[in-house]
Amino acid sequence: SGAFEIYNRLTELMQERDIPSSVELADEPHDETVGMKKSGCHGFCEMGPLLRIDPQGWLYTKVQLSDCEEIIEKTIRNGEHIKRLAYQKGNAVCKKQDEIPFYKKQTRLVLDHCGHIDATSIKEYFANDGYTALEKALFDMTADEIINEITEANLRGRGGGGFPAGRKWAQVNRQKQAQKYVVCNGDEGDPGAFMDRSIMEGDPHRMLEGMMIAGLACGASEGYIYVRAEYPMAVSRLKMAIEQATEHGLLGNNILGTGFSFHIHINRGAGAFVCGEGSALTASIEGKRGMPRVKPPRTVEQGLFDKPTVLNNVETYANVPLIILNSAKWYKTIGPENSPGTKAFALTGNIENTGLIEVPMGTTLKEVIFDVGGGMRDGKEFKAVQIGGPSGGCLTKEHLDLPLDFDSLKKAGAMIGSGGLVVMDENTCMVEVARFFMNFTQNESCGKCVPCREGTKRMLAILERIVEGKGEAGDIDLLLELADTISATALCGLGKSAAYPVVSTIKHFREEYEVHIFDKH
Ligand code: SF4
Repeated sequence: SGAFEIYNRLTELMQERDIPSSVELADEPHDETVGMKKSGCHGFCEMGPLLRIDPQGWLYTKVQLSDCEEIIEKTIRNGEHIKRLAYQKGNAVCKKQDEIPFYKKQTRLVLDHCGHIDATSIKEYFANDGYTALEKALFDMTADEIINEITEANLRGRGGGGFPAGRKWAQVNRQKQAQKYVVCNGDEGDPGAFMDRSIMEGDPHRMLEGMMIAGLACGASEGYIYVRAEYPMAVSRLKMAIEQATEHGLLGNNILGTGFSFHIHINRGAGAFVCGEGSALTASIEGKRGMPRVKPPRTVEQGLFDKPTVLNNVETYANVPLIILNSAKWYKTIGPENSPGTKAFALTGNIENTGLIEVPMGTTLKEVIFDVGGGMRDGKEFKAVQIGGPSGGCLTKEHLDLPLDFDSLKKAGAMIGSGGLVVMDENTCMVEVARFFMNFTQNESCGKCVPCREGTKRMLAILERIVEGKGEAGDIDLLLELADTISATALCGLGKSAAYPVVSTIKHFREEYEVHIFDKH
């Protein structure tokens, strides 16, 4: 959006005016020094480029090059914020960040540092309680106590399934093998999802800290991060963070003299959606073709290189330091009892404020769309939201009061998935939406098992002919029958959930299918 140009222009103007500036966290902060830094994602994508002024907490939105001089003169030199009621061509608007409706209803825990700290500086992470949870776990807690705290907090996997992380860690801890692994799934493949990417780019140390604590709890000395090669900035930030943590003695052998050793490696995935599935992901790290395998044995017993493995996603690990530091009791005060904590969502589609948000679990769909998201774009009417990407389902007007948490969504026939929320207005054709997701899934099917390989192809062909006005009576029933068969017989989660978008759009918008089929358009 031109943020780098804004950064360079502000630097230039500060130099011209001899304003002492510092990009590093000053050891001895000086009143006259203005620190300027590039941060991770603030989440308010729609309004970028963004410029936050601290300690006042002002946020300039839609900053233009033409604003830079005024910002330097008024805000940096005189401590005033520029008051403008509305955007004019070439002008930014400045408000207190926590008074902006987009941020007001959010509870940013995992994304707290994103947009505030310089992700390339371990010093800034230290200055914000960084690695104090690891220190606590290393010096004041036993492995059982760590696992009990995570279990007590009822931290559920944020990658989609919602399986309790503490239970998984306990299962790996119980395994007798000397070699165990901690793996982080950063293979975020859902169309429209970018939560993990923002954490890896904006606060990589927090995720590493969570992995280290998992290693300590489970008796693992090696960790692997599987991250999409399409996320080059995430890869370079993670590499940098690993190097910094190693330099500070927080990774490697005999960490802080405790005898605990832990190393983290990065594996870049080549962009196959199926590699988000646990056994395909570990196969890919091993250098094999990324294909799911039959279970059991489960990953906790025989995962990476056939050794016991803890596999969680980026957001799950990023929650761990918060729980260890603040206690399970504190964590459970946020969100409902069965799904405590927060959830990051990527809000996209026909909505005013697209971006990355974090809300307490149990926040209703209405609050997310109308309070945080600012409502529908161009005054259009809300029609549906696709939650959980191609493995999820659609929610409609009747679900606006539905709390977004694992169990409520399951009851409504949808799933949280990794957290993609695609909002659709009255002009969206739901058959087209189903076709889009089926096309995606069919392309991404690894082809190992027949129901998914052939079934998704058949379903896609039927959807295509319906969209083209060539549908036949009986097509809807055929789609539902195929959906049943694929869900019941496919080998992995990709196939089992491939038909969800079709089934849920038929359930809620059957008449749209019928109009396409019988009115032939
Ligand atoms: Fe591959 Fe699909 Fe079978 Fe999964 S369900 S193993 S993606 S063919």
